[in-house]
Amino acid sequence: MKQLIILISFLYLLSCSSKQSNPFDLVISNVNLIDGTGAPIQHSVSIGIFEGKIIAIEPELQTDGFNHIDGTDKFLIPGLFDCHVHTGDFERDFPRFVHYGVTSVFVTGGSLCTNEYYASMRKQGNQDSIPAPLVFHTSQHFTMEGRHPSKTYSSSNWRNGESIFYLTDTLQIERLVHDVAQYPIVGIKLTIEDGPSPPFVERIPQKFIEKTVKEASKYDLEVFAHVSDNTELEMAIKGGAQNLVHFTGVNIEPQDGPQMELLQEFIQRDPYWVTTLMIDKSFLYPLYPEWFESESMLRSYQESVNDLDSSLVDRARRYVQTLMDEYGLSDDSLEAFMLPQVEDIQFLNMMGFKMVLGTDTGNDFNFPGYSLHEEMQLLNMGGLEPLDIIKMGTLNAAKMMNAQDSLGSIEIGKLANLILLDKNP
Ligand SMILES: [Zn+2]
Repeated sequence: MKQLIILISFLYLLSCSSKQSNPFDLVISNVNLIDGTGAPIQHSVSIGIFEGKIIAIEPELQTDGFNHIDGTDKFLIPGLFDCHVHTGDFERDFPRFVHYGVTSVFVTGGSLCTNEYYASMRKQGNQDSIPAPLVFHTSQHFTMEGRHPSKTYSSSNWRNGESIFYLTDTLQIERLVHDVAQYPIVGIKLTIEDGPSPPFVERIPQKFIEKTVKEASKYDLEVFAHVSDNTELEMAIKGGAQNLVHFTGVNIEPQDGPQMELLQEFIQRDPYWVTTLMIDKSFLYPLYPEWFESESMLRSYQESVNDLDSSLVDRARRYVQTLMDEYGLSDDSLEAFMLPQVEDIQFLNMMGFKMVLGTDTGNDFNFPGYSLHEEMQLLNMGGLEPLDIIKMGTLNAAKMMNAQDSLGSIEIGKLANLILLDKNP
């Protein structure tokens, strides 16, 4: 997908009235269409756009008198989503997302994510003058003091009641959910996990999960849970959580075991499950710099590595051990780490789970936009079909955001949020 050549985002264009009499503001003709629904590629299609929306998809459209892009030998896909994003500097990061064709992001909390910070991100995302993705986000993290993520990623920016909520008892959850529901959030971010690598912290008690799910449902909100192993997966499902913002760390067990019953229970909720394979790759870059694909990235890594705190290498060593134990690996190649996870993701996809692309960008060596391409490559390396991968980053993602009426696929009536590629992805 690195062959991205032109990014077209007509969301806020074309509001002037002088062209009202014309049927189209723009025609993209004779293009190869990958519509994001998982349907096979359609060749030689023309797309008519009016006032920022797709109003025609035909074998041929008249182009005379309209703005026109000749799509011959090019490929049109919907704008991509990264559905697990953190950023400490959105003015720097947002243009990077757009450069890589990521036109929507789902921000799942962070130490700076006060209501004001979220509002600034949304405002930037809605502007047409600065390249920025559309911004969707959760509430601030619901967690407890001394747990993940404020203990495991300690920073003075975590401020209880502003960028994070430390739960102390279940009674308090009613008021907290009421408060966050006043903001345009997609759902509640609930951190169940014990941290990414040893030393682990304590997990949130089960009754807090159940109470958060119950209170959220009063406002028609779903819970987006943070899990990093099978114990937490079970806690999330038993607690009623509707979505999972990580896959990494979960290990799908043989199909005759008790986990299958749990998954059958979970799928009844029509949940969304974010892939985040890039957590592993990015955490391990300090140990395996040869995994950087381009010379320029390797060089900038080597330049920065001198200043790096050796704790990143230590963390990578601990993390690698956790992964090797978890998956019973004897080999430490990238394929060895990824293949069992992609196999699991493929299995869940076949079961009918809606898998969604997300990277956890904002962590070290997990780069805005670029790493979504890495995420797609890892899934493809593990055998997932490109059309399925694209659907996970477009239509599935838009559905998770409840934005499928306007985004996520190239269909009549939706926003013309499109990417034109010069090679077949
Ligand atoms: Zn995250």
